[in-house]
Amino acid sequence: KKRVVSGVQPTGSVHLGNYLGAIKNWVLLQDTYDTFFFIVDLHAITLPYDASELSKATRSTAALYLACGIDPSKASVFLQSHVRAHVELMWLLSSVTPLGWLNRMIQFKEKSRMAGDENVGVALLTYPVLMASDILLYQTDLVPVGEDQKQHLELTRELAERVNYLYGGRKWKKLGGRGGMLFKVPEAFIPPTGARVMSLTDGLSKMSKSSPSDQSRINLLDTKDVIANKIKRCKTDSFTGMEFDNPERPECNNLLSIYQLVTGKTKEEVENECQNMNWGTFKAILTDAVVDHLHPIQVRYSEITTDPTYLDHILSEGAKKAADIAEITLSNVYQAMGFLKR
Ligand code: AMP
Repeated sequence: KKRVVSGVQPTGSVHLGNYLGAIKNWVLLQDTYDTFFFIVDLHAITLPYDASELSKATRSTAALYLACGIDPSKASVFLQSHVRAHVELMWLLSSVTPLGWLNRMIQFKEKSRMAGDENVGVALLTYPVLMASDILLYQTDLVPVGEDQKQHLELTRELAERVNYLYGGRKWKKLGGRGGMLFKVPEAFIPPTGARVMSLTDGLSKMSKSSPSDQSRINLLDTKDVIANKIKRCKTDSFTGMEFDNPERPECNNLLSIYQLVTGKTKEEVENECQNMNWGTFKAILTDAVVDHLHPIQVRYSEITTDPTYLDHILSEGAKKAADIAEITLSNVYQAMGFLKR
């Protein structure tokens, strides 16, 4: 079976962008692939954060994975920090990661520009090396993520090839390794629609956890009233009718795409249904569609969180399964890089 790996950070609350860009696709992939879905708690400390909130956000994110339909009998669900190999491999990989590659990462440039060099920890710079480690440990085929992770995935692929070149192949065979490849080179899986869900208050910037305005995003756990209010107050324009792909109408395109994804309709069906609607009519059906889609997720979430031992059990089983696989890759890499066996 081919392998799929992905994760979300336990920062802020999980929103429609995370769901439509990533988690919803994980659910579709778990039937045909060998899947590993983790909560990247180690990534969550790369920007200033509240230590007293981290464990709560981590549990909530894990519970949401299950509530969204990740089935622990099919997928391994675990916390990144519970499988030590992630951090260990990161150190090994960081020795072959050119500083220039990391300096070029758009996300690093944006986030560090906002905070300033003296206020940014080096972990923000080495963040993509940890992400590469998350992926390469599992000999991954496919990584389902939103558009914003494309550059990090490209770096992961280049790192895999670099390590294979420097330490794999014949050199590794001489050291007793079997096969030539240390790492499989993974592919990104970016959905055709939903890979970049935009903010409700600005159709040109993406919906994100870090935006100070909660009004800009729909969280998976928002109540019906909150969702209705956010959609009511979201940015619109003064054109008549609703249409996809008009560059002058990014908000319209974004909301139609959200409607398409939560209803499961095709683009043509949505076009036919909505082209003559005014904003008021469209907002009303969009609100109902989002609320209806999120309702069963919210019901399952409250069921799952009534018994914390259930979640603990799943996370510990998931970590065990993941660690067994991760250890194989890690010990191969140690060996290929010339370390003495433990
Ligand atoms: P993060 O919230 O940064 O941990 O992102 C978790 C996953 O959600 C990643 O696969 C992101 O690419 C994806 N994602 C985050 N924001 C959006 C968005 N606005 N639209 C689509 N996907 C997103």
